[in-house]
Amino acid sequence: MLFYSLNKQSASVNFREAAITGQAPDKGLYFPERIPKLSDDFFQTLKNKSKAEIAFEVISPYVGDTIPEKDLRVICEETVNFDFPLKKINEYIYSLELFHGPTLAFKDVGARFMSRCLGYFSKGSDKKITVLVATSGDTGSAVANGFLDVEGIDVVILYPSGKVSKIQELQLTTLGKNITALEVQGSFDDCQAMVKQAFADETLNQNLSLTSANSINVARWLPQQFYYFYALQQWPHALPPVISVPSGNFGNICAGLVAYVSGARINHFVAACNANDVFSNYIETEVFTPKTAVSTLSNAMDVGNPSNFVRLLELFGHDHKKIKKVISNCSVDDASTAETILEVYKTDKYLLEPHGAVAYYGLQQYLKKYPNKKGIILETAHPVKFDDVVKKIINEDVAIPASMEYLFKLEKKSIKIKPEFNQLKDYLLGTAVIK
Ligand SMILES: *Cc1c(COP(=O)(O)O)cnc(C)c1O
Repeated sequence: MLFYSLNKQSASVNFREAAITGQAPDKGLYFPERIPKLSDDFFQTLKNKSKAEIAFEVISPYVGDTIPEKDLRVICEETVNFDFPLKKINEYIYSLELFHGPTLAFKDVGARFMSRCLGYFSKGSDKKITVLVATSGDTGSAVANGFLDVEGIDVVILYPSGKVSKIQELQLTTLGKNITALEVQGSFDDCQAMVKQAFADETLNQNLSLTSANSINVARWLPQQFYYFYALQQWPHALPPVISVPSGNFGNICAGLVAYVSGARINHFVAACNANDVFSNYIETEVFTPKTAVSTLSNAMDVGNPSNFVRLLELFGHDHKKIKKVISNCSVDDASTAETILEVYKTDKYLLEPHGAVAYYGLQQYLKKYPNKKGIILETAHPVKFDDVVKKIINEDVAIPASMEYLFKLEKKSIKIKPEFNQLKDYLLGTAVIK
């Protein structure tokens, strides 16, 4: 399988090349030349398959011969070696809990898969790979955790100072070793812009082998399909579910849409956004206009220019009508997000965090129009990752899971920089000279 650049100015490459470089030389995102259809047999036997088997069957057409079957099976097993339970919240809405991984967020899946692929590809190469990643919190922690101690790879994380939660900051600043956290005195969009500029910078690319671990990278984006199949495995109803995905950069929902195009029986998608609603704008006007991000309670979705939007267009051949048929939009403000958390906690005894609450509200609105359908929200993080927000809403502490207690004993280490590209460049070139 080859991947082409969505800017169409660079040559197509295989999975190895796409995973190592992250983005094409023409700055386009890589996209698979075709979306393989899964067989009827795959779906008939889905309920009895192991998580690792599903992961392997779903991803192997994309990986092709760049990783031998035996190694790819091990990578798949390690990637999904935690639970993905589908919990019933009430008669109409279920929650697919994607927060049982090591950093308590769904990004563990993509980060674990990608880190292991890059680890495999860098074996036998004397060129160090530098993974550069901008984060609003969860990406950084998942990537840091996934890549810790992976030989031949350095990770540099940019995060907006004061705009991530305590537990997120600890997760991305306390690991040390091959992980460095740059604390940027700016917004997440500043961090993302700096990372994009770094990939386009000639001097940096001559001196370093830079790659992205944002959902731009196919090795992080594509494995996010896995858990849509785990949801279907556990779905107890005959009519396929509506799936509501809390969306920021649109990597998660685009992975779900790939699964859908491959044949996954999903009735409909809700792209649930917070006040950063460029997608709603596109659905309503057919015009896509990036905006500056505004801060909300669901800060991992504070994205004004979603990177994966171009992939969504490509998946549907830029056909606005088709897109509208498969995906509904919604934009949820902070007041409704907070009300949803309180309401669901009181009525259904289920504690949502802000991103899951946006998905819940979006699904609820959709189901009001289609009362015969039932659906699933993707609960993308554990409430404790956003405990500062959740605590104020429910007026109760959120218990820290035992698996996270060790973090509070560790020391934060970060390098403070201004939101200026030159400061990032100097830092990166400094590391290049030392090596
Ligand atoms: C990253 C993130 C999202 C948004 O996912 P995208 O793939 O960027 O759309 C939603 N919820 C949480 C908790 C996240 O960390």
